[in-house]
Amino acid sequence: MKRIGVLTSGGDSPGMNAAIRAVVRKGIYHNLEVYGIYQGYQGLINGNIEKLEIGSVGDIIQRGGTFLRSARCPEFVTKEGQQKGYEQLKKFGIDGLVVIGGDGSYRGANAISKLGIPCIGVPGTIDNDIVGTDFTIGFDTAVNTAIDVIDKIRDTASSHERTFVIEVMGRNAGDIALWAGLSGGAETILIPEEPQQMDEVIEKLNRGKDRGKKHSIIVVAEGVTNGVKFAEELERRTQLEIRVSVLGHMQRGGSPTATDRVLASRLGAYAVELLLEGKSGRAVGIMNNELVSHALDEILDAPHTIDKKIYQLSQELSI
Ligand code: ADP
Repeated sequence: MKRIGVLTSGGDSPGMNAAIRAVVRKGIYHNLEVYGIYQGYQGLINGNIEKLEIGSVGDIIQRGGTFLRSARCPEFVTKEGQQKGYEQLKKFGIDGLVVIGGDGSYRGANAISKLGIPCIGVPGTIDNDIVGTDFTIGFDTAVNTAIDVIDKIRDTASSHERTFVIEVMGRNAGDIALWAGLSGGAETILIPEEPQQMDEVIEKLNRGKDRGKKHSIIVVAEGVTNGVKFAEELERRTQLEIRVSVLGHMQRGGSPTATDRVLASRLGAYAVELLLEGKSGRAVGIMNNELVSHALDEILDAPHTIDKKIYQLSQELSI
């Protein structure tokens, strides 16, 4: 292997830049040439590709987003689109590819691998919804952004003795809600993996009220319901004055935490190691703080699960 490529695809996440930097520097350390592919699979199809040097990835480890930019590219879901991408890689002499992204991006990487160019996936998404890794790049930063806001809302919630509903991101996964809820001391955490009835939520609110509790924070994952609608129903059924905050895309931005920078550096470098070992069609991850890899075919259709022990703990600590 002489020349590898790197691209970021799908939803961006803080730490993607640190992962690109790791791929580039680790590749150059091993005497590879590294090419950056701009705008994900769209840029691959268009041949928006250029050589990266050590200095190309200087001063980016601390930046959110991705300097290679990202894109959604419906054309790449088709065989014709994948063939075009494959031909561009051949044209540039790229014989290995690192794809940093989420589940959809992994499907694209798997397709390229099957066409004959080795690909390794690196989990970059704030949602933490990728099978085969305990954590994805960007998750820790997103949780920290969420708890910053939760802490601030708690100040005003306690001054005004109010109940707040805070909707966080995560697509179909409840990880951001669970970790932000636990670390922000939320009274109730609603995640898609552990459905709860409205009655249970109300009962808990009432229990708190009976104990003299004056305010309450309810964290709702976007995968469960719309926070505004949920708050309206809760207000109707409790006569409490409820306020809502939908955190939205702020969770996708910002400077990555040290945890995300270290994770991105480890995973990006490990992806290059796998390419050098001749591996293909695999995704890297971290499990019990060890670097691991799995075949993309194995993980792509496996269901995402929540860390049940963390959920149980969150329940026990918010009685
Ligand atoms: P994420 O990678 O964050 O899950 P998407 O699901 O939007 O984000 O996927 C990112 C890109 O990956 C898509 O725009 C498309 O180009 C490519 N992709 C998604 N699904 C497939 C698929 N089944 N086969 C090939 N490429 C895919």
